[in-house]
Amino acid sequence: MSQGKVIIVTGGTGLVGKAIETIVTEENRKGETWIFLSSKDGDLCDYKATENIFKKYKPTHVIHLAAMVGGLFHNLSHNLDFLRNNLRINNNVLQISFETGVKKVVSCLSTCIFPGKASYPLDETMLHNGSPHPSNFGYSYAKRLIDVANHAYNEQHGCMFTSVIPCNTFGPHDNFNLESSHVIPGLMRKLHDIIEKGDDKFCVWGSGTPIRQFIYSLDLAKLILWVLRNYEEIEPILLCVDDEAQVTIKQVAEALAKSFNFKGDIVFDTSKTDGQHKMTSNNAKLRSYLPDFQFTPFDVAIKETVEWFKANYKTARL
Ligand code: NAP
Ligand code: GDP
Repeated sequence: MSQGKVIIVTGGTGLVGKAIETIVTEENRKGETWIFLSSKDGDLCDYKATENIFKKYKPTHVIHLAAMVGGLFHNLSHNLDFLRNNLRINNNVLQISFETGVKKVVSCLSTCIFPGKASYPLDETMLHNGSPHPSNFGYSYAKRLIDVANHAYNEQHGCMFTSVIPCNTFGPHDNFNLESSHVIPGLMRKLHDIIEKGDDKFCVWGSGTPIRQFIYSLDLAKLILWVLRNYEEIEPILLCVDDEAQVTIKQVAEALAKSFNFKGDIVFDTSKTDGQHKMTSNNAKLRSYLPDFQFTPFDVAIKETVEWFKANYKTARL
């Protein structure tokens, strides 16, 4: 990018926002001013508050991460909130970006919003080819409409609004709250607490057989920065690890137990749902642009995240 860019990151205090902050701080590029927003800067569900943020910072570029985000169990019980909050946030951010002449917006979708029934592996062309999984239809439809809006803003006004589709993401600064978290931070929190208490049973929800692709938040951050600077399509792009890197939830639990040096039993609570069995996605489009991108190996990323969590337990989002 050329000189004088002002980039705001909505959701800049979350898992992905903090990872982007880490990478841009390391890069220390000239000619880019970065602003990492939290909900304390203004509630993006509120049009006026969102407008005030844009008036204050006058961004030329936006990485739009802010969203109501949560794991399977939080989605199951809050589909309406996920739908309404995310519709409002996305509508405000995209419309005000248009009104204030933002040059490029990169928004975040997710592999969990693909059709619940599909042929695998999933790719970018399949996003709207059927209903999302019933467990998270509120979040999914709100997110899918970002892609619809991006095309409409481009057709009607020529805007360069695009989106990325990350697979399941984890890393430092995740949400470790047991009720709302995704599986990796949820299981890390459980392990930490049972080790503190001296318990010897590590309870994993569901059967352990679902399959997921996990990306380390710092790898995702690098890829989102590449999209901001280099990707010129309105169509979304999957930002996910290679197919062969997929793991079962049982393997995730075992990797975490190893990292925590937990020697007790891993038990599966099959009274809890598994959610989607898989969301296996194909990163061929990403690989056509970046054939040599090196993803951090899963075990290394898990180890670094566990170390971060232990060192930051007192201030982490619990
Ligand atoms: P996160 O850790 O839960 O962070 C959410 C961020 O959004 C926080 O900075 C939060 O601000 C902000 N936010 C939420 N509601 C807001 C509101 N009403 N007004 C202003 N800010 C608000 O989420 P994440 O995991 O980093 O996710 C970032 C993006 O990636 C999301 O769009 C998500 O859908 C997508 N994604 C995530 C995953 C994953 O596995 N985590 C996978 C695929 C895609 P506060 O800190 O002030 O609360
Ligand atoms: P998903 O990938 O969108 O389904 O969301 P999650 O990350 O919440 O869940 C992934 C899988 O992990 C599901 O099959 C859950 O049943 C399973 N799981 C096992 N233990 C836990 C846990 O403690 N928290 C969460 N959120 N999921 C768990």
